[in-house]
Amino acid sequence: MFTLPDLPYPYNALLPHIDEETMRIHHTKHHNAYVNNLNDALKGNDAFLNMDLNNLLTKLDDVPEDIRVKVRNNAGGHYNHSLFWTIMAPNSEMLHEGVLKNEINKSFGDFNTFVESFSTTALSVFGSGWVWLVKDNGKLQIISTPNQDSPVMQHKTPILGIDVWEHAYYLKYKNMRADYIKAWWNVVNWKKVEELF
Ligand code: MN
Repeated sequence: MFTLPDLPYPYNALLPHIDEETMRIHHTKHHNAYVNNLNDALKGNDAFLNMDLNNLLTKLDDVPEDIRVKVRNNAGGHYNHSLFWTIMAPNSEMLHEGVLKNEINKSFGDFNTFVESFSTTALSVFGSGWVWLVKDNGKLQIISTPNQDSPVMQHKTPILGIDVWEHAYYLKYKNMRADYIKAWWNVVNWKKVEELF
């Protein structure tokens, strides 16, 4: 069985950038629903229920066809949100000089160009989805995924990601996704991103 992980901080910890009600609903309703629906879809399929989530996301072709879409959406949702909570933090500090910063500079020119490019990609996702910084064969890349698809499904390793589903920002930012994206940079947990890198 898959279980909902606790948030690593209180629901109000990311104020003023992300509000308490959004965090509470996002975690206890949205993320919780992905976990419950995943367990429900896999009921009776113990081999998949006991599988490591990373592993499951790379083996979707082995999942019975009649439940594959439900498993894809909800396993992706569970994975993406579990990661999302950990790459945010209160009182987060900017990315320090080091291997990740060097790699970002090498891949995107400089840090500000990276932030701009990631933000533009996040703004241009049509409908619901995610934007990620991934490691793909050792190289950094910005990619977007639709719905709850995860980079792990493409054998890429996400080290940073932003949820641009409206449920992630609508209560505070309404239709202003650009304002949410701008505010979100203030809560990025670069220490965790470095660790994932
Ligand atoms: Mn979400």
